[in-house]
Amino acid sequence: MAQRTFSIIKPDAVRKGYTAAILAEIEKASFRIVSIKKQSISRPQAEGFYAVHKERPFFPGLCDFMSSGPIVLMVLEKEDAIADLRKLMGATNPANAEEGTIRKKFAASISENAIHGSDAEDTAAFEIGYWFAGYELV
Ligand code: ATP
Ligand code: MG
Repeated sequence: MAQRTFSIIKPDAVRKGYTAAILAEIEKASFRIVSIKKQSISRPQAEGFYAVHKERPFFPGLCDFMSSGPIVLMVLEKEDAIADLRKLMGATNPANAEEGTIRKKFAASISENAIHGSDAEDTAAFEIGYWFAGYELV
């Protein structure tokens, strides 16, 4: 059955002009783009999104980074969307990412790693609801 996941093209990739190339990878991998929007987010909005990481040492830097410039927010759909997007993204640290993955191709470092993807069904549901209203998802 089709499953939905949430993804962000992060500020580093948008700044470098990789938006279209990353969207092409996503579409080539048979994801349907259910909804998409480009916007800048505030630091408090980033803090709310990454609340699960609030005790981690990288949290302040992560929130600064995510609110440093426009991002592209998306809801994506396909069978096994959550696991398949994580595979397509590659490892968090691009140095460890497999050949052919988005992070291998487009990410510079563990902190500026081009793309976000939900890691489980419960986080996908939270993240979709955090950024998209129901009327944006029809
Ligand atoms: P994302 O949640 O963005 O899809 P992920 O699930 O691969 O990435 P997480 O462990 O959820 O990785 O970390 C969230 C984000 O925090 C990472 O994508 C990365 O940008 C940043 N991050 C994680 N670990 C570190 C670290 N050790 N140093 C700096 N930044 C980090
Ligand atoms: Mg994560």
